Amino acid sequence: MKRKRSASHLRLLFVLAVVIPCLALGVIAIRSINREKAFIEMRLQRTIDAELVHMVSLLNADLERINEELVSSLTGKEFSSPQTALAGWKARSGLVGVPFLLSPDLKIVWPSLSGMLSEDERAFLNWNREFITGRAPIPVYQNIALVYKDEITKTQESLDKKMQVVPEAATLAEESPVFSPERARLPVPQEEKTGIRAPKNRVEEVQVEQKAISDFERSPDLRKSVYDQAREKGQQTAQRTVTPGASLSPEKKAPLEESIFISEPQSFSEITQGRENGLIPRFIQNELTLLFWKKDPSGGFIGCVIDGETLRGRLAGLLPNIYTPVRILTILDENGRPLITPDENDRLDWRRPLAAREISEKLPRWEVAAYLSSPDAVASRANLTALILWILVLFLLVAMATGGTYILSTLRSEMLLARQKTTFVANVSHELKTPLTSIRMFAEMLKERRQPDPEKQEKYLDLMVSETERLTRLINNVLDFARMERGERKYEKKRLEVALLCEGLIEGQRVRLEHNGFKVTFQNDLGEAFIEGDEEALKQAILNLLSNAEKYGGEARRIDVDVTGTADSVLINVKDRGIGVSPGEVKKIFQEFYRADDSPTARVRGSGLGLPIALRIIRDHGGDIHYFPRDEGGSVFQIRLPRKKREGQS
Ligand code: ADP
Repeated sequence: MKRKRSASHLRLLFVLAVVIPCLALGVIAIRSINREKAFIEMRLQRTIDAELVHMVSLLNADLERINEELVSSLTGKEFSSPQTALAGWKARSGLVGVPFLLSPDLKIVWPSLSGMLSEDERAFLNWNREFITGRAPIPVYQNIALVYKDEITKTQESLDKKMQVVPEAATLAEESPVFSPERARLPVPQEEKTGIRAPKNRVEEVQVEQKAISDFERSPDLRKSVYDQAREKGQQTAQRTVTPGASLSPEKKAPLEESIFISEPQSFSEITQGRENGLIPRFIQNELTLLFWKKDPSGGFIGCVIDGETLRGRLAGLLPNIYTPVRILTILDENGRPLITPDENDRLDWRRPLAAREISEKLPRWEVAAYLSSPDAVASRANLTALILWILVLFLLVAMATGGTYILSTLRSEMLLARQKTTFVANVSHELKTPLTSIRMFAEMLKERRQPDPEKQEKYLDLMVSETERLTRLINNVLDFARMERGERKYEKKRLEVALLCEGLIEGQRVRLEHNGFKVTFQNDLGEAFIEGDEEALKQAILNLLSNAEKYGGEARRIDVDVTGTADSVLINVKDRGIGVSPGEVKKIFQEFYRADDSPTARVRGSGLGLPIALRIIRDHGGDIHYFPRDEGGSVFQIRLPRKKREGQS
């Protein structure tokens, strides 16, 4: 019972300590194998995203610089002598496309309607007259996270409180694209315009903005609610021109994301109010134009349409190496067209970049975008990693299966051995008791002289000798087994006559066997034949077979022994008419401790050592033991021993 319990404990331990962790490890490994490609792409996406963040900073800084350059390239004489001063301005700065002058009451002073108008000037007047003269407002773009920063901060704070999570603004700030110093320096139109909350401390203010942008980027729910608020207030939201990350799941049709820049219509005077100069983005026939303006001390305005080609060239020139073996980097314009492309990459789907970032409210719908240079390289790298992982997992599973099977089979054979040993002790004690009881009974009868018949007295003595022999054989079996295990058994070999040896042995057992109702026959078909062997050991082996014929001989109670031979061997056959041995068990019965019926209720008791010891002795004499089913039922155990040639025979 105790053994059974400890075995099941061991099994449980094996399952808990080996099977479950291995399975869990296997599942984790298989899952990560399947995600390997996505992992590699995601890692790449992160690295590339950091590069895009840097690009956005560069572009924003350059837009600031463009504004400053245009301001400083003015001479102040533009109103007094427009024709020459504006021509000179245009000649000095390639950025100046179509220059214009406005009077303080927003009347167009230049391009002069009275003069000859160039095609560009005519187009400028056509598309901008209504707007600059204050008759038609245009959409003005702002970063939604900055416009709604107070709401975002409040919502996030209450969420953080609810979840009791310490906000991680500082760490996120490092990763977030819009946290560049350039970005922070950008004017915040809403605040400057309305003056709701003039920043007391700019550093503090920047921190609040950064946190708002970070929270906005992090939380899809927050984003959704802020966009909803904006729409409720009548502000225009727009969709981005690209779907970043779409290349990671090409099978999925990812919906276009909403742009971070929302717009509200404002007139020229509203835009310029309270400011000295600036850039105004305008969409004309779906093409982006940038207007530069500056207030003149006279109260009027000097400005220009920035030359599109120069602007594009200048911004594209800011891109570092656009093509590396890993990624392709470019700027996409308002229509999702790349400003610059590496030669042979026309086949790229520009709307599905690996990563992309919107640039600025001054360049709405423009993005910096990155694409994988060779998506196949990522796939093959992922496949290689997956292959290695598969091999490792398979190795792990094979190791687990072999280890597990080995442990279980060792466990099982240990348990079997333990059980066999227990039954062995019980069986041996029982077997020893039977002859002892007989010996004691006959000895007592003789001592008390209860049997006056001298013939019977003689028979009792014979029985006692036979039982003693049986007892000795049993004890020898046990002792020999231990000796054989240690390889210490020694034989004292001498020349023996086989038939004589067998007959003597049988005659010694005959009284007892016949007393127990057995019919015993002995037949010598061999004549005189010799072997070389240890008499006691060989007797023990034959006695073991006789004892088995007695135990498993069944109701027939018949034992036939014969000796035959060939030129080289002698054969000793011990036959019974008992239950026989089933074919599946023939090999097993020669194993130590093996018993066909080993249950405690087995009718016949035994140690499971008789046959293995007999086999060992016979093999040590250069022979063998075989089992044959006997014709008409029963068993034949045949001992084969090498024949010793007569002296002088070769
Ligand atoms: P034991 O007899 O002590 O159990 P043995 O090693 O002598 O051990 O025999 C092993 C098994 O072989 C026995 O338990 C029995 O099942 C089978 N066996 C041996 N001899 C015979 C036989 N003459 N007839 C049928 N079965 C036998």
